[in-house]
Formats: sequence, structure tokens, C-alpha cells
Amino acid sequence: MVRAEGVCKSFGHLQVLQGIDLEVRRGEVAVLLGPSGSGKSTFLRCINHLEKIDAGRLAVDGEPVGYVERDGRLHELREKEVAARRTEIGMVFQRFNLFAHQTALENVVEAPIQVKRTPRKVAEHRARQLLDRVGLADKATSYPSQLSGGQQQRVAIARALAMDPKLMLFDEPTSALDPELVGEVLDVMRDLAGDGMTMVVVTHEIGFAREVADLVAFMDGGVVVETGSPQEVLGSPRHERTRSFLSKVL
Ligand code: ATP
Ligand code: MG
Repeated sequence: MVRAEGVCKSFGHLQVLQGIDLEVRRGEVAVLLGPSGSGKSTFLRCINHLEKIDAGRLAVDGEPVGYVERDGRLHELREKEVAARRTEIGMVFQRFNLFAHQTALENVVEAPIQVKRTPRKVAEHRARQLLDRVGLADKATSYPSQLSGGQQQRVAIARALAMDPKLMLFDEPTSALDPELVGEVLDVMRDLAGDGMTMVVVTHEIGFAREVADLVAFMDGGVVVETGSPQEVLGSPRHERTRSFLSKVL
């Protein structure tokens, strides 16, 4: 579902991604770990083309990100096509980015109605199902300011799911939450993984990684230093850099 080979990205003179190699298959959950500044968020942003890569190959569901292959050649996508592709990828950030002036339900129906032209009735029916799925059936008419951080983050997940994404990206979805609210968000993510959603998750929740991830990738200095099953990478890391990082977060 996601295939990165030698992905490079610089900001000015700063080469943030220095050749990322990673493969995440359909239905898999990949957890990305690594120190601050190692390029985790930048890599996620490249996957849904919020950043354009400088070199290497990056494909989602077999299609090169930002390009379409025609007659054996790559053609750059137009803005509209980029936007269309982006709707197939759900993203949840560290900070809840809900629309403050809209209720939970309105947040969830916004994109299907505006972008997919889903009839309001259909969108609302589906939104209620999704809010129920994240345990917030009774909060449909609440505004973000009336919800806890964990509830807001669960609405954000429901909102992403409303577009029926084939891939979900999570960038430290629980790191801005009070500790007692982390579990409820991780539970929703665990359910989603159980339903077969392909997910790339940046998180330092090692328990989640151990339990849910099919694949753990440790990033440092803009490369994937090591990758493998949670048992391998978390249980018996091969690289000193991984060991030293884990000793700090475990
Ligand atoms: P953290 O764990 O702190 O979230 P990260 O692994 O997600 O870190 P990135 O956010 O990908 O790291 O940033 C990697 C490096 O790229 C950092 O040095 C950051 O300052 C730099 N960077 C990120 N985005 C930009 C940008 N738009 N312009 C310039 N530099 C950037
Ligand atoms: Mg980050």
C-alpha cells in the first residue's frame, strides 16, 4: 500500500529525509518511531503529498505519489487530481484540528458533502455510525470546546473515516492528550487495525506498537535505521541507535 525507496526531501540546505526505504502492505499497521527531528512527520506529509519528494520513489496503492503513469512515463498530476488522491488518505494530527464552530456531526459530514457531493441525509446517517464506532454516539451535537481532548481526537478519526480512506496516517495522535485520555484513542485505533485498515502511525506508545503493529520502523537522521516485527525492533534491536532511543522511551 505504501512503498518508499530512497525517498529524499530537503528544506533549503537541510536534508531531512536522506533515503527512506519502507514498505507497508495492505492491511498492515506500521509504527514509526524515532527522535525529534528525525523526519517522521515530513515522511507522513510526503505520503499524502503535502510535501513533494526531491528524489527516490514513493507509491501509494501502486500509484506514484503526485504522478500518474501513462505510456510508460510519469506525468505530474494537476492540483485537482492531487486533491482527489488526497481524499483517499485519512490523516490525524497531534493537535485536534476540528472546525471549532461546527458540532461533532457537522465536522464528520463536512468533507463527504463538500468534496464527494454525498447527499446530506446519507452523509449524516454514515456520520452517526462512525461517531457510534468511536464511542461518541451521544456527542453528535456537541461542539469541540465541549469535548475532552480524547473525544475531539476520536471525532477527528471519525471525520477521516467518513471519506472511506484506503490508508490512514496518524502523526502522534495521543501526544497532546492528558495521560488518562490516551487509552480511549488508542482503543479506537486498535479497533480500526482489527478491521483491516492500513495504517502508518507515528507514536511513542510502545505498548500500542507491541500489541498492534505488524511492522515497526525506527527512524533517525532521515533514514529508516531498522525495521522489523515489534518483537525484533522493540525486543532485540540490532542497532545501537535504536537501543539508546528505546532506553529513553521505555
Ligand atoms: P518530532 O518528533 O519533533 O515531531 P519529526 O521526526 O516529526 O520530529 P519533522 O517534523 O519531520 O521531524 O522535521 C524534521 C526536520 O525538518 C526538523 O529539523 C524540522 O525543523 C525540519 N522541517 C520540517 N518541516 C520543515 C519546513 N516546512 N521547512 C523547513 N524545515 C522543516
Ligand atoms: Mg513530528
